[in-house]
Amino acid sequence: MNAEIISVGTELLLGGTVNTDTTLIARELSRLGINLLFTGTVGDNPERLEFTISQALSRSDLVITTGGLGPTGDDLTKEIIAKAAGKKLVFHEESFRRIEEFMGGREMPASERKQAYLPEGCTALKNNVGTAPGCAFRTDAGKIVMMFPGPPSELVPMLHDYGVPYLLGLENAVIVSENIHVFGIGESKVAEMISDLTEGANPTAATYAKRCEMFVRVTAKASTQKQAEQMCRPLVEKIKERLGDAVYSTQQESLEELVVAQLAARGLKLATAESCTGGLLAKRITDIPGSSDVFEMGAVTYANRIKTKVLGVPEEMLAEYGAVSEPVARAMAEGIRREAGSDLGIGITGIAGPGGGTPEKPVGLIYIALCDGEKTYVRCLPGGTRPRGRDYQRIYASSSALDMVRRWLSGLPVVP
Ligand code: ATP
Ligand code: MG
Repeated sequence: MNAEIISVGTELLLGGTVNTDTTLIARELSRLGINLLFTGTVGDNPERLEFTISQALSRSDLVITTGGLGPTGDDLTKEIIAKAAGKKLVFHEESFRRIEEFMGGREMPASERKQAYLPEGCTALKNNVGTAPGCAFRTDAGKIVMMFPGPPSELVPMLHDYGVPYLLGLENAVIVSENIHVFGIGESKVAEMISDLTEGANPTAATYAKRCEMFVRVTAKASTQKQAEQMCRPLVEKIKERLGDAVYSTQQESLEELVVAQLAARGLKLATAESCTGGLLAKRITDIPGSSDVFEMGAVTYANRIKTKVLGVPEEMLAEYGAVSEPVARAMAEGIRREAGSDLGIGITGIAGPGGGTPEKPVGLIYIALCDGEKTYVRCLPGGTRPRGRDYQRIYASSSALDMVRRWLSGLPVVP
């Protein structure tokens, strides 16, 4: 099946809105093994819209549109497509009731009501977060048309919950994917390491970048769930083997989720002392439900005076080595562990930038220490390469700290 995506909206042509809808849909199509041959953008202009739609229907089996389903005068997608496909728009009771519900008893203007008119015989795609439903139908010529609302917050759930199942239903297939989460090796390096494993068509394997880390998604399409799972398995195992202990999970979505679960399973408690990350590590840990079982305290010790007063970092040490140094990170981890009475203590100190760097201590230089009461491990992020920005440095440092805990818990070398 050959597909085409048409995004409707003058704001896209003016450069005010980045066309993320097309990217999101393109990704899903590729996962489904549907060839996307064309993408296009057209403004809210009836003639040009009709021309674009007719052209798409003449050359593609599946035409997906985004935008222009709303209540306003320039929202014309449905009307024009219905015309081009020779379909009448008919009142759709269920969609009407959903819009009514969404309006919460406020009087419904005629403009809102128009959203409940859908092409005759179509499958309505429910909008659980907005008013405009999407729809999907087959034209008399056998082409499939699908329409989605423009706002990504509405498109994403509609696409996943109703759009993808509709497409799978057309060919009686199910899709199963498994994500292999990796920390410590960059996306391009991973792509290189598994290049021979990413060439298959079913199952497929593809790399994706994520905040300071990446994951590999393995996807299989089959007629049953079980069959698709069985097709994924061997490829997942091969990739895990190839990437070794940089793979932290195929179940948990994030390092913090994994670390909290593993600490809880072992009945261990953690405390953190942060300088340059400003509490981000504590935030990420406490974002996870159930973290109160494993997290004792987090201190943001920015000033040297506070590092001394709260964590017992010796003044002389700060004077001799500076706040951003291995001994200070070590003393912070040991200090917070002692103060909290926890099993593990973490200390982070560094230069997040953009200012404050020197040739000896460049922006991005960050020391992370993990103390278990017997030993203190220190990891140094050297910084100084291409500047990545303050946010990146902080996320990377907090992820590195979580990774050290993960490695400690798994009996791996804490500092790889
Ligand atoms: P609404 O009911 O909100 O009017 P709609 O389906 O009519 O939804 P549009 O009016 O075309 O959609 O667009 C609404 C908003 O959605 C735009 O202002 C823009 O912020 C966002 N949007 C539209 N198209 C895209 C796109 N292709 N990529 C990303 N965002 C988009
Ligand atoms: Mg609109």
